[in-house]
Amino acid sequence: MTREYETVIGLEVHVELSTKTKIFCGCSCEFGGSPNTRICPVCLGMPGALPVLNKKVLEYAIAAGLATDCTISPVTVFDRKNYFYPDNPQNYQISQLYLPVCRDGGITIETGEEGAKSIRRIRIREIHMEEDAGKLFHDRKEGFSHIDHNRAGVPLLEIVSEPDMKNAEEVIAYLDRLRRILQHLGISDCKLQEGSLRVDVNLSVREAGDSRLGVRTEMKNLNSFRAVSAAIESERSRQIGLLQKGEAVEQQTRRWDDAKKESFVMRSKEDVRDYRYFPDPDLPPVSISPEFIESVCVSMGESYDEMVERFAKEYRLPQKELSYLTGEKALARLFEETVSICHKSGSVSNWLMGENLRLMRKEGMDAEDLRFSPEHLAQLIDIFEEGRINSTIAKEVFEVMFYEDISPEAYVEEKGLGLISDLSLLEETAAACMKDNPKSVQDYLSGKAKAIGFLVGQTMKAMGGKADPGAVKSVLEKLLSSL
Ligand code: ADP
Ligand code: MG
Ligand code: ZN
Repeated sequence: MTREYETVIGLEVHVELSTKTKIFCGCSCEFGGSPNTRICPVCLGMPGALPVLNKKVLEYAIAAGLATDCTISPVTVFDRKNYFYPDNPQNYQISQLYLPVCRDGGITIETGEEGAKSIRRIRIREIHMEEDAGKLFHDRKEGFSHIDHNRAGVPLLEIVSEPDMKNAEEVIAYLDRLRRILQHLGISDCKLQEGSLRVDVNLSVREAGDSRLGVRTEMKNLNSFRAVSAAIESERSRQIGLLQKGEAVEQQTRRWDDAKKESFVMRSKEDVRDYRYFPDPDLPPVSISPEFIESVCVSMGESYDEMVERFAKEYRLPQKELSYLTGEKALARLFEETVSICHKSGSVSNWLMGENLRLMRKEGMDAEDLRFSPEHLAQLIDIFEEGRINSTIAKEVFEVMFYEDISPEAYVEEKGLGLISDLSLLEETAAACMKDNPKSVQDYLSGKAKAIGFLVGQTMKAMGGKADPGAVKSVLEKLLSSL
């Protein structure tokens, strides 16, 4: 008898907070910088150096908790998670185990195609604050490993879900929603590729209908949504394969190799007891007053969902556009600012999702990296819709604006790209084209209506592309019908 299996998935998501300074010292969190230039005795774990909590980190943690329906703890405590690794000079990581800052929240996800949507609540067990570790560089040629401590002490939130997800689609929906919510709060850029959002996938399988959880593995090193999906499929088959052979799944931490599309054992999974957690004696318990929570709540402003709802109402965008434009904070802002100048939400949305998205994909850019101003996009839309340039030229101008943020108005003027609206010149050029292409003219007159397309093309070419194809076509039709 073949058995049916179901998959159970819980996620541990780390997000790097975009505070100016580290969690327990005043060192800069800015990405990059020469190795070991953003360090001090505190983040290096020197004897006698004392950590002090960065208040912004607490604010951001509370904001994340409020945005995901968590309960905020009245008292939160930092614990030491003890382990040795060369990127961790303290020999412990300051994290939270017993009294995390937020608990018992959840977010609602939507999966499935239009018409067969399923809406589910994924519970969030807790959110805790912790510090990041340094980075190791292994120089295999020289046979040395180097350590850069710039990242040591950068604040992280760890968001732990309950094992409520059943497949890759739900996992992606959960991650995407979480990313949107946190990015909207402005507390993290949440980029998987750059490591400001890191996902560990805990996965087990069990026989369908069984209420007990199976033994799980934890998978790391997932740098894209695509990798997350592939890793889930691969691990699910691996575990089912083991069970079908009558073997047991071992509790392990595994590393996903995206090139090989396979995961490998890193270590047999350690237990929480192995870390000898204890409250950090250098950091007093933190009381969180209702007034403080209230002040964070006020500073958060419009929530992600409120923004989406407002966009839907104010701009009447179709679902797909709405989802895309609210997907990145920088894009939503660019859209709103442009619309506030030109008052053409449909056109702004079309340009952003059309030419703009095409070029962003080509360059591998995020909305954050866009360089053109809302004023310039509004200007381009205006001159195009006033009929001062045609659509081919508008796209060309958009591309120059995309890369160099030129003023479309000035650019069209300078390069002489404006449409030629001189009707007699148009007629003269069209007539000349008809004379040069008697075959097309014959074809048209003998009933092949499509033959006019060629004549339009030739006339456009003769006018250097600077005519309105619609106007050219009607001039040709007029001339042809008078033959
Ligand atoms: P640890 O403390 O070892 O990291 P936790 O109990 O905190 O383990 O769980 C970590 C993550 O693993 C959570 O997201 C949780 O939902 C998930 N998880 C726990 N048990 C299972 C299981 N049997 N199958 C799938 N996911 C699980
Ligand atoms: Mg854990
Ligand atoms: Zn420091």
